[in-house]
Amino acid sequence: MSAVVSLGVGKLRYLDRLEPKNGDWPRWQVCYCGICKTDRLLAWSTGTEGLVLGHEVVCRDGRGHYYALNNEINCGNCDYCRENLTSHCRHLYELGVTHHGGFANWLSAPPHSLYLLPLRDARLGMLVEPLACAIHGVERLCIALALQQVAEPRILIIGSGVAGKMLAHLLYHRVTARLTLCDIDAEAMAWARNMSIKCRSIPFHEHYHVVIECSGGQGALALALSAVRRAGAVMIYGIPDSGEALPISMRDIFNRELTLLASMAGCTQETFSEAIRYLEQHQAFFATLLGRQVSLQQLPGELLHNAPQAGTRSWVTVTPQ
Ligand SMILES: [Zn+2]
Ligand SMILES: [Zn+2]
Repeated sequence: MSAVVSLGVGKLRYLDRLEPKNGDWPRWQVCYCGICKTDRLLAWSTGTEGLVLGHEVVCRDGRGHYYALNNEINCGNCDYCRENLTSHCRHLYELGVTHHGGFANWLSAPPHSLYLLPLRDARLGMLVEPLACAIHGVERLCIALALQQVAEPRILIIGSGVAGKMLAHLLYHRVTARLTLCDIDAEAMAWARNMSIKCRSIPFHEHYHVVIECSGGQGALALALSAVRRAGAVMIYGIPDSGEALPISMRDIFNRELTLLASMAGCTQETFSEAIRYLEQHQAFFATLLGRQVSLQQLPGELLHNAPQAGTRSWVTVTPQ
């Protein structure tokens, strides 16, 4: 039994005699676990001492079936759950965030939180959780799109990391719009040209009906707000730095009649199941998102000090197959 445990801000340790448990839930063998920005932020935050992180998990049962974990365990009874806003459940357990997650050989989780993977390559199951969040993001974006009076709105996506790519891919296949992707790294955008998505390093000024900020970078929201046209909408999707204030005055929001919205998490039963179906249809695209692979022993250094290769997800092989 081995696991990587947080020992406080910026400290992670590999331990080879630890079986992290979450109450009485059954245990599952962890095969792979993605490393995302949330993990990197948590590793440098207070309040994670003694916790096993990792929430983009692929497990296997005793019969050799592979499953993706929906790490949000909700109560099903509170007002948010009844409105299907389960990410805001008043009694939410988040494996890998508030309870032990997937950076360990074994994970204890309720059976209903595991979704059977019908994929040829089970590693792609690590992308189900971030894709379910992106599907939730597109659902929220459609509310903002309904405010626009044009048949083909111009949509700008800032940042072509994994989140930006997933959102661009979903919008390309599901929404009638003129899509532009913006990133400072030309190579990071190269994939989008094959799909006739326009690429720019600097967006046009006050030009887009809707802008999605996916980079979480400093100053990126100011760029989004300068790129959106009057009566347009800006969605915050990338995790902003804590303490970063809105770079716009209330008067400007009012005068330009802007809509601001955000999308965070959103792994409901529906988005999770839909993410698996979508992944199954587009396995070749999602395979290109798998980046650097490390072992559980290498994870502390990777998580604390290495950025992912542009536009890909780094990941851990927890149990060699
Ligand atoms: Zn994540
Ligand atoms: Zn609830």
